[in-house]
Amino acid sequence: MFVRVHAYAAPAEAEPLVPTTIERRAVGPRDVLIEIRYAGICHSDIHTVNGDWGPQSYPLVPGHEIVGVVAETGAEVTRYEAGDRVGVGCMVGSCGRCDACRGGSEQYCAEGMVETYAGVDRDGTLTQGGYCTHVVVDADYVLSVPEGLDLAAAAPLLCAGITTYSPLRRWGAGPGRKVAVVGLGGLGHMAVKIAHALGAEVTVLSQSLKKREDAFRLGADHFHATGDPGTFERLAGRFDLILNTVSAPIDINAYLGLLAVGGTLANVGAPAEPMSVNAFALISGGRSFAGSMIGGIAETQEMLDFCAAHGLGADIELIPADQINEAYQRVLASDVRYRFVIDTATIG
Ligand code: NAP
Ligand code: ZN
Repeated sequence: MFVRVHAYAAPAEAEPLVPTTIERRAVGPRDVLIEIRYAGICHSDIHTVNGDWGPQSYPLVPGHEIVGVVAETGAEVTRYEAGDRVGVGCMVGSCGRCDACRGGSEQYCAEGMVETYAGVDRDGTLTQGGYCTHVVVDADYVLSVPEGLDLAAAAPLLCAGITTYSPLRRWGAGPGRKVAVVGLGGLGHMAVKIAHALGAEVTVLSQSLKKREDAFRLGADHFHATGDPGTFERLAGRFDLILNTVSAPIDINAYLGLLAVGGTLANVGAPAEPMSVNAFALISGGRSFAGSMIGGIAETQEMLDFCAAHGLGADIELIPADQINEAYQRVLASDVRYRFVIDTATIG
């Protein structure tokens, strides 16, 4: 039996989101029914709704930063029970058999992970995301939100948190390492908090000086405006790791010049346009240009536990659902401080 629930959906490409209802599948033996409390707005939601990454099926309910409370569990689910505080990120399925899945990197599943929205679920239906009152998810893709984390501030950890935690850990952000974060938006502000908590020396590279005071409050040690051309001369050869979180194309070669010998520029920003890399920007200095997509399930739980242990949540602006379209405009204008989170009690 399917259940009809309230949601906000884009009715067509690049159209404003409107209230609607969608169907959720009946709770299967391995499923968890979650009553959603909060859903973060990720720039990926906007890229997807606007067709930046290719054509989509509509109506489309975005949202992959989901937190809530377990309402019901299937007969075979032992890890969760009604009332538990839980989260769902960008992924609700993967094959479970390939090398990536077995190695804990389900996001790189050989058969393709099942995205939380705009993905094809194992029953062939299209997945719909978290701007909604309820979701039914395979328990293996449900995370536990530790006590001590504010539930609303924890929502953005499910994408912005893990997407920055994973590359920061992989490329060794820690004491004695100089890390630059490019773009102080949803991902960028979590990158600053996490890199600081890991003990790295953190520099923010932002378009202007507008977010300077915020950056220091979030844990940055240095702040520079990329709009000032002198920045690239002054910081040449400075960083061990640069994490690019910008949602638009940037001049990658200029940023590669800021890497120390052997340094890595890890890209998590996902503009549709290709970025051109000058071979000499890499071979001189033995530098690397890398990419990273979210993180595995176990790693996401590790990140949530790390954030709870360090008292890290996102800096959020809580909004009712009827302000989603306005929030999209502000995200596109780089005017997010630093993640919009929808109070899902206002849906329906
Ligand atoms: P966001 O909140 O909009 O932050 C992006 C920031 O980039 C802005 O706040 C701004 O920071 C900077 N920026 C925007 N336009 C720029 C431009 N034209 N030139 C230079 N800087 C610019 O977005 P987000 O939610 O953090 O997501 C960022 C990107 O990561 C998106 O493309 C998203 O799809 C992608 N993403 C990737 C993954 C993954 O797994 N790899 C996961 C989630 C999201 P300043 O004001 O400080 O300059
Ligand atoms: Zn996201």
